[in-house]
Amino acid sequence: MPIISAPQEFNAEDLYVDLNAVIGSPLHLKCEGFNFTGSVKLKAAVEMVEAAERDGLLGPDSVLVESSSGNLGVALSVIAASKGYRFVCVTDSRCNLASKRLMEALGATVYTVTEPAADGGFLGARLAHVRRLCEEDKRYVWLNQYANPGNWRAHYRWTARAVDRSFPALDVLFVGAGTTGTLMGCARWFKEHRPTVRIVAVDSVGSVTFGHPPAPRMIPGLGTGVRPQLLDESFVDDVLLVPETDTVRMCHRLAARGFLFGGSTGTVVSGATAWLAEHGTPETTAVAIAPDLGERYLDTVYHATWVQGVYGADALATASLT
Ligand code: PMP
Repeated sequence: MPIISAPQEFNAEDLYVDLNAVIGSPLHLKCEGFNFTGSVKLKAAVEMVEAAERDGLLGPDSVLVESSSGNLGVALSVIAASKGYRFVCVTDSRCNLASKRLMEALGATVYTVTEPAADGGFLGARLAHVRRLCEEDKRYVWLNQYANPGNWRAHYRWTARAVDRSFPALDVLFVGAGTTGTLMGCARWFKEHRPTVRIVAVDSVGSVTFGHPPAPRMIPGLGTGVRPQLLDESFVDDVLLVPETDTVRMCHRLAARGFLFGGSTGTVVSGATAWLAEHGTPETTAVAIAPDLGERYLDTVYHATWVQGVYGADALATASLT
């Protein structure tokens, strides 16, 4: 199999990188960054907006509002613009500039929360702002990706089926957990249709999603400071927690081989590689979901000054050796 493969007739849903050929990890990486919104969140955005339309929640004056650390905001900007709705994205100071600029270029209004909530996290502060907007003006419609079943249904409908189509003999699927929409949609589909497939969630150290203590995190997309309402842990076989320094090292290791992925992909690949080294066999067929690409992180994950400022002078030391 070539390093980069689209096993079906070319379709962005079927694009994989074979990491065995890249970093010697027996893992197929499903690349979700090749669509108009540049991330896995396109599917959740379409499903949530169309469900709101079906439920009669949206009229010509409606203003969509959502709290997003970037990718859902960009995806909703695209969907809102294409359907003629206004969109307000509430984000925080960790959101990268490129995502904010993209949203604004697509006609969205971006509000950036700069003060964390009392628990030290930004999510609570973002949600408080969204709630305030909805109370003050009834035209606002909050999709609430943390609780909206359309978020996981999108991945049940599309992502899981696409993985199964390309890898009918799959043994293990690694999925990063943010809102847990991707995780829950894939986990529900596989438990129903291919119950022998192990579902492994990958999260960042410092995220409270799986009951661990909170700590500061700088990589957007993965992890939360508030446990997502979508999560049902009974569908998950294993949970891996990856420190952000490993995330950054893995991103740089992949970039050194020509593959520039987003930060959360570094987390998922780092966790999956360690899991496979311990539990995998030469026959194991493993897939991991890569939520986006690296262009949006040139000022953070791929900027040496930022990395050293956040994680210390040695953070990249081993990356250049691997
Ligand atoms: N990685 C990135 C870059 C993301 O934008 C997201 C979405 N928050 C995720 C991972 C996690 O996806 P989900 O919200 O479906 O858990």
